[in-house]
Amino acid sequence: MLIDAIMDRFRESFGDEFQADEPVAKYTTAGLGGPADMLVTVRTVPELVEVVTLARRQSIVYWVLGSGSNVLVSDAGMRGLVIRNRATGVSFWHNGSGVVMRAESGANLSGLARQCTSRGLGGLEWSVGIPGTVGGAVVGNAGAHGGDTAGSLRRVTILDTDLEARDYTPADMGYGYRSSALKLAHKGRGDSGRVVLAADFHLKSAPVEELEVAVKAILEQRQQSQPPGSSMGCMFKNPPGDHAGRLIDQAGLKGSRVGGAEVSPVHANFFVTQPGATAEDVRKLMARVWHAVHDRFGVELEPEVELIGEWN
Ligand SMILES: Cc1cc2nc3c(=O)[nH]c(=O)nc-3n(C[C@H](O)[C@H](O)[C@H](O)COP(=O)(O)OP(=O)(O)OC[C@H]3O[C@@H](n4cnc5c(N)ncnc54)[C@H](O)[C@@H]3O)c2cc1C
Repeated sequence: MLIDAIMDRFRESFGDEFQADEPVAKYTTAGLGGPADMLVTVRTVPELVEVVTLARRQSIVYWVLGSGSNVLVSDAGMRGLVIRNRATGVSFWHNGSGVVMRAESGANLSGLARQCTSRGLGGLEWSVGIPGTVGGAVVGNAGAHGGDTAGSLRRVTILDTDLEARDYTPADMGYGYRSSALKLAHKGRGDSGRVVLAADFHLKSAPVEELEVAVKAILEQRQQSQPPGSSMGCMFKNPPGDHAGRLIDQAGLKGSRVGGAEVSPVHANFFVTQPGATAEDVRKLMARVWHAVHDRFGVELEPEVELIGEWN
């Protein structure tokens, strides 16, 4: 009864942006994930704050979905509320030592980097081709080509669990390799808790042509080294001093399949999903790869992708 009243409230506030029993697979890059009890798409930061506030006040478990490019959502789906973040506002200003870009957390980071390049603003080239949002990058400390989120950030605005929005410096964020205090706090809780609202990035003026050359080189490198098709990017973190892809390849697993999930023959740390694949196929393939690498090299690979939802 209470849940019906809550659903009515969301419908009233969000109209067609609210869906019940909505397949999360529609919103993840691997095309995987069972139904969410409730899903709301927000397009502004005030909407994001409103939904989180409503959920917390009604004690509804909520979870923020960015581009769904670093998560494996279970076939059983998500209980409670999925908040699909499409808050994409962006602004720029000078601060004396350079230019600052403030981006809302649902903006696509790679798209922002391209926008910066065309304005002669450098600093985010490393992120071109990463298909995630600013929020996902802030949580997972996304990085590539020698750069990462922690190194580019100036400030993050977070809606804390007391529903106050506060600013944090990168030093406050507990950053490590593809890790942050936020990511560690999510782990095992099954919900988002604190929510990233926006982030400020340092930028430096540079000739457009120079930035375009750097971006082109990065995109070419990605095209050559990464498989096309549906995936979640790298499945496992690189162990210290090595590459997960090399270990998986050396364990003879390129092309290994479970159902519709395959270890990519192009890049062994990418699992490519075919139509009809299930999240369980991917989870089983992760387990096979983990054990094979452990048996062969004694290395315990740590997943980079987050397993979300209900798992046996
Ligand atoms: C083809 C491909 C290439 C990739 N290459 C790279 C790469 O080079 N480097 C790299 O680091 N990653 C890479 N990735 C992985 C992924 O794109 C990044 O990790 C990205 O930053 C995830 O962002 P997202 O918006 O998709 O996050 P999601 O997958 O939607 O979410 C990830 C986590 O962040 C949380 N979250 C998202 N937004 C918020 C928010 N606003 N507030 C609180 N929590 C939030 C989610 O709840 C979840 O726990 C790649 C993925 C693919 C598919």
